[in-house]
Amino acid sequence: MALVVTKYGGSSVATPDHIKKIAQRLVERKHTGDDVVVIVSAMGNSTDELLDLADEITDHPNERELDMLLTTGEQVTIALLAMAIQDLDQKAISFTGLQVGIVTDSAHNKAKILAIDADCVKKALENGHIVIIAGFQGVTSSGEITTLGRGGSDTTAIAIAAAIAADVCDINTDVNGVYTADPNVVEDARKIDTISSEEMLEMAASGAGVLSMRSVEYARNHGVTIHCRNSFTDEPGTIVTGEETDMEQAIVSAVTHDTNDAKITIRGVEDRPGIAATLFGALADENVNVDMVIQNISEEGLTDISFTVPHEDLSRAQAAVVAVKDEIGARTWVLDEDVAKISIIGAGMRTHPGVTSQMFRALADEGINIDLISTSPIRLSCIIALEDAPKAVRVLHKAFELEQE
Ligand code: ADP
Ligand code: ASP
Ligand code: MG
Repeated sequence: MALVVTKYGGSSVATPDHIKKIAQRLVERKHTGDDVVVIVSAMGNSTDELLDLADEITDHPNERELDMLLTTGEQVTIALLAMAIQDLDQKAISFTGLQVGIVTDSAHNKAKILAIDADCVKKALENGHIVIIAGFQGVTSSGEITTLGRGGSDTTAIAIAAAIAADVCDINTDVNGVYTADPNVVEDARKIDTISSEEMLEMAASGAGVLSMRSVEYARNHGVTIHCRNSFTDEPGTIVTGEETDMEQAIVSAVTHDTNDAKITIRGVEDRPGIAATLFGALADENVNVDMVIQNISEEGLTDISFTVPHEDLSRAQAAVVAVKDEIGARTWVLDEDVAKISIIGAGMRTHPGVTSQMFRALADEGINIDLISTSPIRLSCIIALEDAPKAVRVLHKAFELEQE
C-alpha cells in the first residue's frame, strides 16, 4: 500500500468524458489498496478564458480580484471529479487551497507557498476518501486568496506530496514524459527516462512547459521525486531526481524554446555609471522579471540597452521605462514582441566549451540570426525572431543528435 499524490493538468480534464475517465483510473488505483490524493487544474483552456474575460473588462485588472477569478477554474474541476468518483461508489471529497491550508505569501498572481497544514487531507484519507485538491491556489495568513503563477498546479502537487510524505508524486499530462524537445514541435524527439533536477530546472526555466519551474525547484528543495507521465496510460514516463547519477552526463540533453518573452531596446542612452542601475532599479521596483540583458558598445558616449521580459510583466516594464526615460537620457525605446528564446541544456556542457560554437554554427547555416545571448554553466540561450523558432529547435535537435534511434 502506497500513499500516492497524482496531478492531472488542464488538457487531461478538458471535458466531462475526460473527468469520468480519470475518475475510473483513480478508483482502480484506490482498489489496489493505495491511498490517493489528486491535484487538478482548471478544465482545458479555462484559465485562459477567465483571463480573456478580465481583459474584456479592463486593461489593468486588480491582482487580488484576478486571483479571485482564476481560482474558480480549479474549483469547477475538483467538484466535478468528486461527483464522478462518487458515481462509481467510491468515497471522495474535494478541497480548495484554503481548506487544505496552503498558506502563501501575499504576492498575488505569483504567490509562494510558505506552509501547508494537511490535517484535513490526512483525516479524509483515514476515512477512506480519495482526496481531491484544487491546484494553483492558496491563501495568505490574513485570509486573502492567491494563485501560484501559470502552471502552478504542478507546484501544489509537489508541495502536498512533501507535506504528507507521499511515496509517489505523479505529474500526469498529455505527453508521455519529458522529451529532448517539445514533441509537438520536433516529431522525432525522444522521451528522457531519468533527468536531474538541475537540468529539468533549466529546461523549465527556458520554456519546457511540461513541468513548472517552481514545482521542480520545490521538489529539489524538499526531496520529492517527480514522475512525469501520460494521464491515460501506465507506461513509465520521466523520473526527475535530485540524486546524483553515475551515468556519463550528456553534453546536450535537450533543446527548449520559449515564446513568452518580449524585447525592449532603449536607444541612445548616455554611457556613464548609474544608468543601468537606474533603469533596472525601476524595473525591479515594478516587480518585472528581467531575463537577458545586452548593452552595445557605445558610439560618441551613447549606447543601446536591450533586455527581455515575460509577456505578463510587459505593461509594468513599459511603465518603468517611461518613468526613467528622461532621467537616463534615452532618445527612444522600441518594443519587439515577435521574439523567441531558444536554448540548449546539458550538464556535460560544463566541461565541453566547443558547444557554443556548434550551436551558433548550426543556426547560422540555416540563416537564423542571433539577437541576444545568455548562458549558465549548463544552458546556452539565444533570442531569435519568433518565426524562426520551430526551425531553430529542429535544427539544434538534429545538430546535437538528440533524435530517436
Ligand atoms: P498540463 O495541462 O498537463 O499541465 P502542459 O500543457 O502544461 O500540460 O504541458 C504539456 C505540454 O508541454 C506538452 O503538450 C508539450 O507540448 C509541452 N512541452 C514543451 N516542452 C516539452 C518537453 N521538452 N517535453 C515534453 N513536453 C513538452
Ligand atoms: N490552471 C492554471 C494554469 O493554467 C494552473 C495549472 O494548470 O497548472 O496556469
Ligand atoms: Mg502544466
